[in-house]
Amino acid sequence: MKKIALFPGSFDPFTKGHADIVLRASQIFDEVVIGIGQNSQKKRFFDLEMMIDCIEKTFINDSKVRVEVFSGLTAEFAKQIGSNYLVRGLRNTTDFEYENTIAQVNQKIGQVETVLLITSPEYAYISSTIVRDIYRYGENVDEYLPYHLPLNLKTN
Ligand code: ADP
Repeated sequence: MKKIALFPGSFDPFTKGHADIVLRASQIFDEVVIGIGQNSQKKRFFDLEMMIDCIEKTFINDSKVRVEVFSGLTAEFAKQIGSNYLVRGLRNTTDFEYENTIAQVNQKIGQVETVLLITSPEYAYISSTIVRDIYRYGENVDEYLPYHLPLNLKTN
C-alpha cells in the first residue's frame, strides 16, 4: 500500500524551511501532500491562491508532491486523502511542546501517526512570522523562500 504523508500547516508564506521538510519527507514516503489549513476566522497575510501557485511551481518537477487546501480537523483530512501519517518540522523546544500535545491528540482521535523531522540547521531560524514581519516593511524576502515573491503585493 502507498504510504502517503500529510504535511499540514498555514504556510503563510511557505518557506525554504518548509520546502526542506517536504523534500526530506518525500525520501521516506511515496507521496507528500502539503495541506494548507484554512480557518474562516483567521485571515491570511498572503493570498491563498497565490501561495498555492508558488508551492506548485516549487515542486513542478516532483511528481510525489502536491498541494491541497483543507478546513476542519487535520486528522480527518488525512483520512480523506488516505494518509495515516502527519509530517511536522521541529526547530526548537517551543515547536516540540506544541507538536507533542497535538500529536497525541491526532493519534487518539484519528489514529494518525506524527513523524517529526528535525530542521536542517541552515533553515532553523526561518519562520513564516519573521518573513511576514520583514515583508511588511517592504524588504525583499526571497532569500527565505524557494520561489520569488514580488514586493508590495496586496496583503492582509
Ligand atoms: P502552523 O501554523 O501549523 O504551525 P506553519 O506553516 O507555521 O504551520 O508550519 C508548518 C510546519 O512546518 C510546522 O511543523 C513547523 O514547525 C514547521 N516549520 C516551520 N518552519 C520550519 C523550519 N524553518 N524548519 C523546519 N520546520 C519548520
